[in-house]
Amino acid sequence: MTQFTDFGLAQPVLRALDEAGYQSPTPIQAQAIPPAMQGRDLCGIAQTGTGKTAAFALPILHRLSLSDRRAPRRGCRVLVLSPTRELANQIAESFSDYGRHLPYTNTVVFGGVTISRQERALAPGVDILVATPGRLIDLVDRRSLTLEGVEILVLDEADQMLDLGFIHALKRIVRMLPGKRQSLFFSATMPKNIAGLAEQYLTDPVQVAVTPVATTAERVEQQVIFAHTGAKQALLAHILRDPKIDRVLVFTRTKHGADRVVRGLDKAGIAGAAIHGNKSQPQRERALAAFRDGSCRVLVATDIAARGIDVEGVSHVVNFDLPNVPESYVHRIGRTARAGADGLAISFCNDEEKAYLRDIERLTRQKVPVAGFPEGFVPPTRQEAAEIAASEERRPDQRGPRPGQRQGQRPQGQQRPQGQRPQAQRGDHRPGGRPAFGGRPQEGRNPDARNERRGEHRPSQGRPEHQARPERGPEGRPQRPGNRPRNGGGGGEGRAIGWLERAPRS
Ligand code: AMP
Repeated sequence: MTQFTDFGLAQPVLRALDEAGYQSPTPIQAQAIPPAMQGRDLCGIAQTGTGKTAAFALPILHRLSLSDRRAPRRGCRVLVLSPTRELANQIAESFSDYGRHLPYTNTVVFGGVTISRQERALAPGVDILVATPGRLIDLVDRRSLTLEGVEILVLDEADQMLDLGFIHALKRIVRMLPGKRQSLFFSATMPKNIAGLAEQYLTDPVQVAVTPVATTAERVEQQVIFAHTGAKQALLAHILRDPKIDRVLVFTRTKHGADRVVRGLDKAGIAGAAIHGNKSQPQRERALAAFRDGSCRVLVATDIAARGIDVEGVSHVVNFDLPNVPESYVHRIGRTARAGADGLAISFCNDEEKAYLRDIERLTRQKVPVAGFPEGFVPPTRQEAAEIAASEERRPDQRGPRPGQRQGQRPQGQQRPQGQRPQAQRGDHRPGGRPAFGGRPQEGRNPDARNERRGEHRPSQGRPEHQARPERGPEGRPQRPGNRPRNGGGGGEGRAIGWLERAPRS
């Protein structure tokens, strides 16, 4: 099966694919589309970048076109659950693209923006609703949405959904759905808890899987540069001065880290934007749009904010911090070298991150080649680097409570004597130098890692990214549509970004 025409998809869908320039299905599409078109439940292991959105969107559009049923008032026929608002937007955009010659409406809803516009958009009913779980439940609780008419459920990035603590929301949502429905379940990884969930929600599912996460790393050229924490900022600025680096995604473990990097770049005269959970929705959308259209070449992101972001032409990924979860490394570097393009992933690794590097190499089953400092880069001395790292630690924005931590409170077991920054001050610039300690970095050793665990991953202590407080934006106004990347990035207020608004191309 090598052509879309072999599937028997509805003509309007094929026409949209032709216009999108898709020649042949990707492996996940080839495996998933035929059974999904037949109405089978599906359990797919695939990550963003494999074409999994079309793998569920195309058969869904096809199946919708088979009946002339209408969406119920305040209801929807297809419900797609996504862990983050960025991914939700992208999914809705894909439905708009692939369904441009069909009459179906879609709407995307997520937290962090005013709910009333979403309620208005849902009132007449929509064919396809893409939602993050928290906001979906809010809408149901306010009786602005009913899930009784759902014919097809898609659960996208199920592993991240669980990571973000959405399990209870998810269970509640599934209980509200009709028992007779088609369910399509996608996850980048399939640990036991995800497999258990799939078993619970799916009936006789077809299992499909594409390249396991570990092997995607093989396609990307990688380098690691050993650098003291205090040298990383200067190193990044030096690397980014190379004009050949035209679109670079920089990853940090924490939101504060991302802001710090942007500030540092700014001082070095390099414009960059940060995208993470503390940014307002309009800020995030502006940053993404600028990155997409090339007006901003450096986007600094946390893992959660970046997951699912699909930007073409990312020439470089820089891991300013190495992630403490090795799978995140593979997701990060997979942002470059997409669709067969060349890409380079450069990781900065300090002493305490060497254990993270070992975990990554174990997962990917490959050594990351060690590179020296780039030509012309004069690293700070160990003493200078330690001072820089310490001064960063003292910055006013770092003195406040960590996300999820109350003022004046430091969780038990995370006491750290004032001014002492374990490990990070030891610095080791020797490429290939042995780690300063033998074990895996522990919680409590790395303030940033602790910060992320408490703040970014645990909704019980601090909101996950997509549930940020309703944003008023810098202008003090609720988010307005506009500044949307491509055709739907700002659909978060429930505006129908469907095809009804668009004159079909002929
Ligand atoms: P996804 O994994 O759904 O995020 O898709 C990754 C990227 O691949 C998106 O930019 C899609 O537009 C693109 N894509 C999906 N399917 C195909 C295909 N069959 N041929 C070419 N590009 C595709």
